[in-house]
Amino acid sequence: MQQHIDTYDFKGKKAIVRVDFNVPLDEEFNITDDTRIRAALPTLKKVLAEGGSLILMSHLGRPKGVDAKFSLKHIVDHVSECLGVPVQFADDCQKADAQAAALKPGEVLMLENLRFYAEEEGKPRGLADDATEEEKKAAKKAVKESQKDFVKKLASYADCYINDAFGTAHRAHASTALIAGYFPQDKMFGYLMEKEIAAIENVLKNARRPFTAIIGGSKVSSKLAVLENLLGKVDNLIICGGMGYTFIKAEGGSIGDSLHEDDLIPQAKEIMLKAQDLGVNVSLSVQTRVTQEFTNDTPVKVVPSHAIPDGWEGMDCGPASIENWARIILASKTILWNGPAGVFEMPNFAVGTEKIAGLVAQATAHGAYTLVGGGDSVAAVTKMGYADKVSYVSTGGGAMLEAIEGKDLPGIAAIRD
Ligand code: AMP
Repeated sequence: MQQHIDTYDFKGKKAIVRVDFNVPLDEEFNITDDTRIRAALPTLKKVLAEGGSLILMSHLGRPKGVDAKFSLKHIVDHVSECLGVPVQFADDCQKADAQAAALKPGEVLMLENLRFYAEEEGKPRGLADDATEEEKKAAKKAVKESQKDFVKKLASYADCYINDAFGTAHRAHASTALIAGYFPQDKMFGYLMEKEIAAIENVLKNARRPFTAIIGGSKVSSKLAVLENLLGKVDNLIICGGMGYTFIKAEGGSIGDSLHEDDLIPQAKEIMLKAQDLGVNVSLSVQTRVTQEFTNDTPVKVVPSHAIPDGWEGMDCGPASIENWARIILASKTILWNGPAGVFEMPNFAVGTEKIAGLVAQATAHGAYTLVGGGDSVAAVTKMGYADKVSYVSTGGGAMLEAIEGKDLPGIAAIRD
């Protein structure tokens, strides 16, 4: 049975918490952005304040085995500073029995990077490039088999399990999903997970209308499932950014040298037809800022999005597009935004994305529920200073994207089952 962190009795209990401490480090192993650590603090402080002790587990990077470069020891001091208590370190996540057993209320132990073991992800490593199908199958079977002991060991350290790692909730890994099975009566979400789940439900299940999705970014191929799932839910679908040109081409427009995916034109047509059937208003960019080179400092022209000259490519949306989208955004009661409206990494082509961020913030101030989730739109609103002017900014790129696709996330299902 799923428990709730607010009502669970942590007194004298050891909580093993899956956190997402996969933070960016510079070459001297300094943390360059500790957002993920700070996001987990409310959960960790709650357990300590209630008389429990903590065993923290996370991955860091994509090691292929034990690799000092990806050691979580680099972040122990910072976590300790953030929590205001010393943090002990177990330099092998599978050999922490004694340290875990000795933990007293109020104490914290951090386990070494879970992905030093292939069992965390349950995927075989070190297979030869020319491995046969049989060999691949056998290796997979072997790692799945040893994964059972791996999970069992982690579970043996604690009395209860908390999953607060939304960033990995879309993975059915040992620490994100399988371990929950060892705590049938003592498993729960942390506060960050609670917030992310509430945000997903606010848009996908309980949206107030009109509901507008703003979907941008580079490729239709990476957003097809998102578009398909949203079609049955939204009133307006704004398609912007590089992916918009595939749709404009599908409508018969000339898009010059703009980014597009010819093989997805049939799907783009299908999406627009389905939207028509469902009464969803699809709004494409009507005006584009184009250049002849993919660089920041190069001459810019503003042209109709359906008539981009050859040799020119769309880098950002133009003011007429923003004008159209402003009317839609400001009339919305629920907004989901995923993906930038232009090449926002280049200051000259961040204008459209920044205008959208401003409009979403304005809609929020007028009472709309607004969620920015998945990937680069999060980086954009944060960089542009709008993160605290929208209702919620998701911390999980891939996980949020899969949730918007309508998938059940294993990390969530394992707690609820
Ligand atoms: P995604 O990861 O699919 O959300 O895409 C984000 C990326 O889309 C960012 O790196 C943007 O620079 C890129 N992008 C947005 N608009 C365009 C465009 N018009 N042309 C090329 N790339 C774009």
